[in-house]
Amino acid sequence: VATRISDLKVDLHVHTCLSPCADLSMTPAVAVARARELGFDGLAICDHNSAENVPAARRAAEGTGLEVLGGMEITSSEEVHVLGIFGTDEALRQMQETVYANLPGKNDETYFGRQIVMNENDEAVDACDRLLIGATTMGITEVVSCIKALGGIAIASHVDRDSYSLIGQLGIVPEDLALDALGLSFRCLAAGKQKSYEVWGLPLVSGSDAHFPSELGRSFTVVHAENASFEELAAALARDGVAVGSALRS
Ligand SMILES: [Zn+2]
Ligand SMILES: [Zn+2]
Repeated sequence: VATRISDLKVDLHVHTCLSPCADLSMTPAVAVARARELGFDGLAICDHNSAENVPAARRAAEGTGLEVLGGMEITSSEEVHVLGIFGTDEALRQMQETVYANLPGKNDETYFGRQIVMNENDEAVDACDRLLIGATTMGITEVVSCIKALGGIAIASHVDRDSYSLIGQLGIVPEDLALDALGLSFRCLAAGKQKSYEVWGLPLVSGSDAHFPSELGRSFTVVHAENASFEELAAALARDGVAVGSALRS
């Protein structure tokens, strides 16, 4: 059987209406529909400290050919955002359990917004009352170790940003962190500044970090692989078979 490697377009950083800061119109089904319109092969649903809208996105994508990867954007105790993307439902469930066990506080809808769990038909089925916008009590080393112990992919989010980023908070990418990639924001790509992050010797990826449907597509990752599955993405990252892309590049 001949292998067919092609350039696949994936968005590794998509929020839904479960994130308190995301728009309520950003439902899992809408994110999937918009990603398909934009010609994406895959997307990772990564809400703040929660994966409760992953099942709805998966069901919405069933039979469409769009790959939906399950993940979350975890906030470490240093207020560093890290994407954890997982290959199995069981690994995602275990990470969710660990994050929830280390995430103090209750959400205040008035200040932070609603956190809606949806089904694939855009119906609200639950509201999460945890303080998803908050930081976990887990240090960055612990967060990354936990992701890797569960066989997941660990990506430092938007490292070009001053706030909530590894380089913004620590000033460096610590050598002993078992990261699979550094994430760059759409702004970094639009400004053509991605080169300066090659110095850390890690693959560079990007995702829209969309909180609104209109933000999908503004940046993405091109994966040289047979398909957009978790296994193919992990293998591509291991051989640096990825590239960043932006719809806004000048
Ligand atoms: Zn973030
Ligand atoms: Zn984000």
